[in-house]
Amino acid sequence: MQVQPERRQEPLQSCERSDQPKPDGRQGNQGVEEHRELHEPDGQRGPECREPSEEQPFMPSQPTQQGQPALQGQQALDEQFMRMALDEARAAAEEGEVPCGAIVVCDGEVVARAHNRREGDADPSAHAEFRAMLEAARNLERWRLTGCTVYVTLEPCLMCAGLMVNARIDRCVFGASDPKGGALGTLYDVSHDPRLNHEFEVTPGVLVDDCANELRQFFRARRKKK
Ligand SMILES: [Zn+2]
Repeated sequence: MQVQPERRQEPLQSCERSDQPKPDGRQGNQGVEEHRELHEPDGQRGPECREPSEEQPFMPSQPTQQGQPALQGQQALDEQFMRMALDEARAAAEEGEVPCGAIVVCDGEVVARAHNRREGDADPSAHAEFRAMLEAARNLERWRLTGCTVYVTLEPCLMCAGLMVNARIDRCVFGASDPKGGALGTLYDVSHDPRLNHEFEVTPGVLVDDCANELRQFFRARRKKK
């Protein structure tokens, strides 16, 4: 699938420029090395990426949101819900899981929350947002998650983005981009592929520092244990 992401940040998959501020103030992806490890958990890691700069905040790709009252209200709501997803990510870390958390909001109400359970459940599909969407469908007693927004701390993979299409979600809000697996704008853009039968809105980079820090701390602590 080759779809050019047109309306969001350019993909941030390159480690080399991860801490080079761009002319417009944007910065490369944070948590790059952790994401690499996420996909190569057995220590088969590639060359070290440089530590992302702590001072340069990641800027979401749509600075037009600044200064628009309605969107500012939405931004505050998004951050509020992302904090709940972050609580789920921390719960995952406490269980020794890679700290990813997700919640599903329908008509302003939280209808599901979940965190990564891949190790504990020995289940390759037990990603936070995947589990949260299944729970939302059970709670709402419908497979169509129309009217729902999925908040997740890490950019969804192909599997989870695929479920978002199949569940007909309205919107996905995520924190950190995933240069090794992101399917909502980084490696692919499953959210806006006209060949698929559903498209949905995506808001990247919400509380990106907090989301990336959860991953960073988890992998640092795990490396110390080894
Ligand atoms: Zn996934």
